[in-house]
Amino acid sequence: MQVYNTLSKKIEKFTPVNEDEVKLYCCGPTVYDFVHIGNIRTFIFYDIIRRTLLGSGFKVKQVINLTDVDDKTIKNSKIRGMGLKEFTDKYTEYFFEDIDKVNIKRAEVYPRATENIEEMKAIILGLLEKGYAYTADDGIYYSVSKFKDYGKLSGAKADGGLSRIKNDEYDKENATDFALWKNWTENDGDVYWDKELPKGRPGWHIECSAMSLRYLGETLDIHSGAVDLIFPHHENEIAQSEAYNGKKFVKYWVHPEHLLVNGKKMSKSLYNFFTLRDIEKQEFDPMSFRLMIIDTHYRSKLDFSFESLRKYEKTLEDIDIALKLLEKLEKIGPADTETMDIIKNESNDFEDAIGKDFDTHSALLHFFKIIDLINAKAQKGKISLMEYDNLIETIDTMNGFIGVIKDYVVPKNLFKIAEERKSLRQSGDWKEADKKRNVIKDAGFKIIDLANSDYLIIKDRKYGR
Ligand SMILES: [Zn+2]
Repeated sequence: MQVYNTLSKKIEKFTPVNEDEVKLYCCGPTVYDFVHIGNIRTFIFYDIIRRTLLGSGFKVKQVINLTDVDDKTIKNSKIRGMGLKEFTDKYTEYFFEDIDKVNIKRAEVYPRATENIEEMKAIILGLLEKGYAYTADDGIYYSVSKFKDYGKLSGAKADGGLSRIKNDEYDKENATDFALWKNWTENDGDVYWDKELPKGRPGWHIECSAMSLRYLGETLDIHSGAVDLIFPHHENEIAQSEAYNGKKFVKYWVHPEHLLVNGKKMSKSLYNFFTLRDIEKQEFDPMSFRLMIIDTHYRSKLDFSFESLRKYEKTLEDIDIALKLLEKLEKIGPADTETMDIIKNESNDFEDAIGKDFDTHSALLHFFKIIDLINAKAQKGKISLMEYDNLIETIDTMNGFIGVIKDYVVPKNLFKIAEERKSLRQSGDWKEADKKRNVIKDAGFKIIDLANSDYLIIKDRKYGR
């Protein structure tokens, strides 16, 4: 495996610190609202990292944190008149619903910031003791000029302690001292901790240093997050963790690019801000969004549009039909060596592609070669059992890496209705036959008619009508 490392700005060979288990930390959602599709792009990429490692034979421990206490969660829970826990629990639940819809496999641990306050306090106390942090009237701050490697990831320069900032997020080129701990103010209401440190709450950056240390240890193999987290968030994580542990924090930093909408950055004021739920409201299958995401290299910007999504939804249906046709083929005759060679070569090329810095776009081209092969066999109406077994195994393996095929069940009663439709068509009662077709459609499925009165029943993706 090879990985582009933001730290070295080079593609490097991937070798984990400990061969037994890859330690993968991914910055998770702030659970203050529905996540937008740009966030989902990032989460799908985390899933690709995980699947690629597993598919390449590594054992993986993946941690994705849930930020349930920061400036935004406190502000929004107050606006909604809800307690912080009740509020963030709700959005955590929505987050899991969303990632399930795009076939993201669960990580080993989803730690919540509020359940790791003791770990954060320990690091802050340690940083105070080592002289990397200082107490101000409104909180405890990290002194960026004390950490000699500050800026090694992002290129940001420490301003020599000229200013400090309490906000969790701040501008680029503004490497100020940042808050590790924020003293309580009225805005925080009942959100505070008051033992060992002044009554208050943690800053955002310390959360990830604490949770990665607790669940994965001092040195992580891969740390990922969207490009906008490189500075200040990841730069600050390095400063905190390396100063506290005295060890290298992360071996490979991996950052997926932004998702644009119609060429522009997503923003609520431009009315181009979408969640997965908005996509579903327009009757798109969320899986078409997954296919769209992985068809672009993660380090390239990706321009989202509903027109483009429609194209992927059609592709998803083509895959579905090809696999259903494969099931129907008569399994007979000897295996064809040319076919067997194509299967073998395409599988190897697929794994090579995805192993080279998670190049899902190139990998997909090989996946589609296999789909083309299935369609060619379907034209002939038969396949050898050996070819069939190999194709099924290959599709399964490839799907293990990319997860574009999500199984679904066609309700049994729909097959009965389809059979009734078939008889009606055979007796020329087209009107009643169409009624049966509509019953199936209303259930969210559709019939694809084949030769000799045969048919398939597939999920009706509607192409986003
Ligand atoms: Zn983080």
